[in-house]
Amino acid sequence: MMERARRAQARWAALPVEERARRLRPAIDSLLERREQIADIVCEENGKPRVEALLHEIGASVGKLDWLCREAPSILAPEARRLTWMPTRRAEVHRVPHGVVLVISPWNVPLGIPLGQVAAALLAGNAVVLKPSEVTPRCGAVVGELFAGCDLPSGLLQVVQGDGAVGASLIAQKPDKVLFTGSVATGRKVMKAAAEHPIPVGLELGGIDALIVCDDADLEYAASAAAWGATFNGGQVCASVERLLVQASVYEPFLALLQDKLERVDPATELGRITAQRQKRVYEHHLEDMKARGLDIRTGGEFIDELRLAPTLVAGEGVGESAVWREESFGPLVAARPFDTDDQAVQLHDATEFGLTASVFSRNPERARALAGRLRVGLVSINDVGASLYGHAELPWGGVGQSGFGRSQGKEGLLELTYAKVIEDGPAGFEAKRPWWYPYDQDQLQLLSMFGQLIGSRSHLGRARLLARMGGRAARMVTRSPRL
Ligand code: NAD
Repeated sequence: MMERARRAQARWAALPVEERARRLRPAIDSLLERREQIADIVCEENGKPRVEALLHEIGASVGKLDWLCREAPSILAPEARRLTWMPTRRAEVHRVPHGVVLVISPWNVPLGIPLGQVAAALLAGNAVVLKPSEVTPRCGAVVGELFAGCDLPSGLLQVVQGDGAVGASLIAQKPDKVLFTGSVATGRKVMKAAAEHPIPVGLELGGIDALIVCDDADLEYAASAAAWGATFNGGQVCASVERLLVQASVYEPFLALLQDKLERVDPATELGRITAQRQKRVYEHHLEDMKARGLDIRTGGEFIDELRLAPTLVAGEGVGESAVWREESFGPLVAARPFDTDDQAVQLHDATEFGLTASVFSRNPERARALAGRLRVGLVSINDVGASLYGHAELPWGGVGQSGFGRSQGKEGLLELTYAKVIEDGPAGFEAKRPWWYPYDQDQLQLLSMFGQLIGSRSHLGRARLLARMGGRAARMVTRSPRL
């Protein structure tokens, strides 16, 4: 499999980026043509509402693929760099594909995540082996089907179905880069396995993202945002709103509005079902923990049926120590704490190992911006839900700390699917040898010592004097032994 991928990649990488983009575009047409049927597959397999399948998985993917095809040629173009100490020389930074990129995906955005990552890796000139989640194999298969009509070298994109053991065996076959999206626990295993070779990894991991509500926010609007941000896709979103920090003076009115909105989420049409049964055990643990601590469960706290947990809002003394505040629940649970000052909001926000997205609600743009600038996260949205930023092809997506590292999407994500290679144009004909080559002698010693002073000098006159002295010494050295 790897050999096939490598052979195909060599042919693919030889094509100009514009040509790669031209050949990948039919995948967009195919996605659009098949959108209703693909939405059926996503809804059946993942259980999300159709609106979310059409918008988050299909609409957003069309936009991302289109952006990538349009922008990749300029983002991946060689870039000339001026060399301060050799202004006459020309150097260029080229972006070279890694080779074979292994994409390992989760089940919560089973089409959109692998589709965007596969498209970016291909545009950058790589071959791709995709291992979709074992929970959503049909969505993974669709990714392969979309590129099947794209005139790609045979073996350039291969979809390998299976569970974690299959993922581990694929890393053992030494791809050239691993793009992993999933839990922190698996991310650690992936990184450990990749370190054996070593292979570079990008890790898109979990989050317990916070929404901060300032006392000058539009509370009704912020509560609508929180209700949606905490429960869309059944809360099974890495950037789901799991923590609320609400300024003390508006704490109770805000929680009352949010409780009302959470109770109005329709389980039949708006609340995605629990996709992976193992997630239920996490919810049970969080519910038992909040009950054992005597926390104030404002709404929810019970399963509606086998497939749905009622949207749950919890508050009260001791919430900061509870499992639901400290661990990712990946479900429709949200915990609230009050804060007094913006300094305290930042401190409470950052007291976690995670840092994917955050949201700040305030009518004061300066205040909101200052708060946003201080939070330790990969992306912050002001007066909107941070998770929505995933829909923008232009923006780099990724976190800090246990939320992972590396970026997918945007210019940054595309560049990470390549490595930087420098090509410098040396002299074409005869040139005097460089002063730092052999022989090492007194003239050279003094010349190089003056060179250090020259780099550090801030005075034009001082520099001119040093250059004149250096020139004399260099000429002497070159005349003595021009080619040694
Ligand atoms: P998971 O870690 O259980 O599995 C993810 C993928 O890794 C699956 O394809 C699985 O088969 C594979 N895998 C498991 N063990 C492996 C191993 N040893 N070697 C190689 N591959 C292995 O995660 P999940 O339950 O599918 O997804 C939920 C998690 O993903 C949540 O923590 C969520 O926050 C995170 N997530 C993060 C982002 C992001 O962009 N940061 C996006 C979506 C989901």
